[in-house]
Amino acid sequence: MALTLVSAVVSDTGPYRTNNEDVAIAGRRLAVVADGMGGMPDGEVASDLAVRALEPMERLGDNDPVAALHAAFNRANDAIGAAAAGSTERQGMGTTMTALLAAGSRMVVGHVGDSRCYLLREGRLHQLTRDDTYVQALVDQGVIRPEQARTHPHRALVTCALQGTPVDPTITVLSHLQGDRFMLCSDGLTDEVDDETIAHLMSTVEEPYECAAALVRAAIAAGSRDNVTVLVADARPVD
Ligand code: CA
Repeated sequence: MALTLVSAVVSDTGPYRTNNEDVAIAGRRLAVVADGMGGMPDGEVASDLAVRALEPMERLGDNDPVAALHAAFNRANDAIGAAAAGSTERQGMGTTMTALLAAGSRMVVGHVGDSRCYLLREGRLHQLTRDDTYVQALVDQGVIRPEQARTHPHRALVTCALQGTPVDPTITVLSHLQGDRFMLCSDGLTDEVDDETIAHLMSTVEEPYECAAALVRAAIAAGSRDNVTVLVADARPVD
């Protein structure tokens, strides 16, 4: 059995920003969200370079999808490093990147930064990625509670991103269950919208584009000051 994605993405600059530094691909095999890092110069250049480095995976089958995704993340990182090296304004530019790849009968998730991948399986929401952030480290150490992370003053501090320096993406492999629905997003969503609301909208809005749009609307209605990107992907077996 091979899997394909029925995916759709909605990306909104939001009412407070002048440009959208989020970049996404909603393919049949590959889904990606990258969020150019705020405060850094040329964040949208970094996220665009990163996503373009992964794009060929939409068309190419791989014998070893884990190694291929790992290599693609490193190519993305190298492309950002090379672009930054040629320009003083681009020094330090970076991006998060979260990717979902349908590889035969398995799903592979690659991750660096604080964009997330969720799985809705049999009505339950699972966060498949762990944020590379200062506040997540505080949660892990028991210094703050998970619910305090979303409002912490340093919640935007990303501890690992694609910036051209050596990076080790987290790669996770999942087997498929009928009805699996994935959601990839930038922190513009998760800073504002809690897991309960995410689970509710993912469960009740059937069409992927409408579901992504409903989640983006929820983030903007909650007062998001960031770009908001939501990608919804249903994994389905192909005959
Ligand atoms: Ca963001």
